[in-house]
Amino acid sequence: MTRFWSEKTRRVEPYVPGEQPLDKKYIKLNTNENPYPPSPAVKEAIVSNVSKLSLYPDPDCTALKELIAPKESLNIENVFIGNGSDEVLAFSFMAFFDPDSTILFPEITYSFYPVYSSLFNINYNFISMKKDFTFHKTDFFQKNDGIIFANPNAPTGIYLTLDNIEEILLGNRDSLMIVDEAYIDFAGEPSAVALIKNYDNLLVVRTFSKSRSLAGLRVGYALGQPSLIEGLERIKNSINSYTIDRLALAGAQAALEDEDYYKETIKMIIRTRNNTADKLEDYGFKVLPSSSNFLFVSHPDYNAEDLFYVLKEKGVLVRYFKQNKIDNYLRISVGSSEEMNTFLSVIRELLEGF
Ligand SMILES: *Cc1c(COP(=O)(O)O)cnc(C)c1O
Repeated sequence: MTRFWSEKTRRVEPYVPGEQPLDKKYIKLNTNENPYPPSPAVKEAIVSNVSKLSLYPDPDCTALKELIAPKESLNIENVFIGNGSDEVLAFSFMAFFDPDSTILFPEITYSFYPVYSSLFNINYNFISMKKDFTFHKTDFFQKNDGIIFANPNAPTGIYLTLDNIEEILLGNRDSLMIVDEAYIDFAGEPSAVALIKNYDNLLVVRTFSKSRSLAGLRVGYALGQPSLIEGLERIKNSINSYTIDRLALAGAQAALEDEDYYKETIKMIIRTRNNTADKLEDYGFKVLPSSSNFLFVSHPDYNAEDLFYVLKEKGVLVRYFKQNKIDNYLRISVGSSEEMNTFLSVIRELLEGF
């Protein structure tokens, strides 16, 4: 019954998240989740906060902001906290992009950006990509009302250097640029946060979902000059003042306080990523250079969609996007080294049997 749907509800094409299958146990390499559990300190913090659940959480998330800000050499006025970075991104579209305005993003990027654009009636122009999935930065020097891209990009894993980002910022002083750094902790490269002090038109968005093993907790944040953060707070406080619950606040804080644990798990993931990439290249795959916790790969002799289904049958779930330019690629999240060894042996068997 769609009779009561608003025009917006009828028009929007919702985002389709990667499968979370319940039918059998897969090696799950399809949604870029972290293969390692969160720090043990997270569990302790969450359990000890259960008794306080009768009280509303701090709507300003002050304690969490006070942990994030100094790590980035910023103040708490530079930090906005949201229920996952997807919510931070949705609020950003509402706070900074007007209906009927036009924003720019790469043609291959996180597929939530066109969804938010359509939900909020924002037009977009694609920045077209070269064969190697990089783009001409000069393509960003065109009339626009905003820019968004992921860095490292998804699903390619490719990192854009700060020099390039700064050039795009300089050429667009009157447009807000959002840099989605969901994967920056796996890059071993500098974050665009360093540019915030000089650019009032830059908002950097981060998440606890990937490098902090907390996809199930739903915490993300944005960093920028205070007027941008205030804009986001205005939107949040017009929708729901308590987007981050007590358990999420406690868990995220505990995660930030256990830096050593995460340094170690991130290092393991990077090592496993590089080893897996080498092996896949040995098997004849083309592997894009990855600065993230996933690999984007294509094989000259085998169809990616066929491989996706055969892998699934064998109990390995990866991500396939039936989309122009990337429809012969698979995105493979980096699991534990055991999971990747199993994945590689399944792949080898398949290639031999095809
Ligand atoms: C995973 C991901 C997100 C969403 O992260 P949540 O914090 O879990 O909502 C945002 N942007 C990109 C590019 C991602 O890959």
